[in-house]
Amino acid sequence: MRTLDELLAEGVAGRRVLVRADLNVPLDGDTITDDGRIRASLPTIRRLSEAGARVVVTAHLGRPKGAPDPKFSLAPVAARLGELLGMPVPLAADLVGGSARSTVDGLVDGGVALLENVRFDARETSKDDAERGELAGELAALVGESGVFVSDGFGVVHRKQASVFDVARVLPGYAGGLVLAELEVLRRLTGTPDRPYVVALGGSKVSDKLAVIESLLPQLDRLLVGGGMCFTFMAAEGLGVGDSLLEAEMIDTCKRLLAEAGDKIVLPADVVIADEFSADANTHTVLAAQMREGWKGLDIGPITAERYGEVLAEAGTVFWNGPMGVFELAPFAEGTRAVAQAIVDSTAYSVVGGGDSAAAVRTLGLPEDRFSHISTGGGASLEFLEGKELPGIAVLETP
Ligand code: ADP
Ligand code: MG
Repeated sequence: MRTLDELLAEGVAGRRVLVRADLNVPLDGDTITDDGRIRASLPTIRRLSEAGARVVVTAHLGRPKGAPDPKFSLAPVAARLGELLGMPVPLAADLVGGSARSTVDGLVDGGVALLENVRFDARETSKDDAERGELAGELAALVGESGVFVSDGFGVVHRKQASVFDVARVLPGYAGGLVLAELEVLRRLTGTPDRPYVVALGGSKVSDKLAVIESLLPQLDRLLVGGGMCFTFMAAEGLGVGDSLLEAEMIDTCKRLLAEAGDKIVLPADVVIADEFSADANTHTVLAAQMREGWKGLDIGPITAERYGEVLAEAGTVFWNGPMGVFELAPFAEGTRAVAQAIVDSTAYSVVGGGDSAAAVRTLGLPEDRFSHISTGGGASLEFLEGKELPGIAVLETP
């Protein structure tokens, strides 16, 4: 795989470089509520700009339906990117049309421009190779003869999309700094991690995380289960779960996992239950064996948090994906806070994966720099850990 360093060594001054970044930030109206992904994209863009490249950034925002939709305009992102870079970042009004061409033509050496939301074009996510290839060709045309492609949107490298995959077949492709950093961390987790290797999994659904559980179980020493998914495991143990999130069709799978690796899997001993999904619900803390009909479990309880904390304190390596409870609502944030704090306090090599988990770290005010790595790509890191091939990486290896 060719890397950003190799591209810089070749020399980029005056050349147009198309960078696929992941700038898919959460928005409240047009206010960015967490700019973590924009900040993570800065080093690669900055290095290219400082080397005199004319940087053309392409990215998506949200899930528009393959057509322009002002709600999903990258305008707030262009403004924030410009603030962080300390120079204006013009936003083309389209992706590969007249505005994109004139914006790119207007770039000076070291300048950075952003193309409008790549998912405004239905060809980006098309299942049809020819359709995606056509868009990739139009993106490549924007950067012209001496143009190259830098793949730096780690959060999308598991997608076989025009701006991620196909474009690397029509332009010389290089892995950006963020992609390389993420891969290095994940290789450390799948190589020979320092032991004990502890994985804390939460979030909403077992079905989302089943593949990663299956592939990590043989490698890990302890799996700490929380979040909505713990209730399907509890049901598999024969416990009542009241109105908690339950994936009934997954109970048999959870039974099998418990039979195969029950000594490694740790389930909550107590649970915070509520009579409704709201910040001012009535709540109680009950033992796992005493869940109540009509009540839902929305967080792990304090006994569980302490027990998980003890396991994490001893860990050599930690991978954490998925909040332990509904941390967005204050009464159900303590389990996630306690687990995150235990990771911060431990000396383990620690990796956080998953958009909501990363958001929890920031919104609960934990020090980001006390985790060894906070991944920008939830789905991509899970697929890597599952042993799946990531199309956006594979194409850089063999275009
Ligand atoms: P990540 O993005 O980190 O991979 P997920 O997307 O899998 O995490 O899950 C995050 C969501 O899981 C959060 O919005 C959180 O509110 C929810 N969640 C956690 N615990 C529960 C629970 N007990 N019941 C329902 N939802 C839960
Ligand atoms: Mg999520």
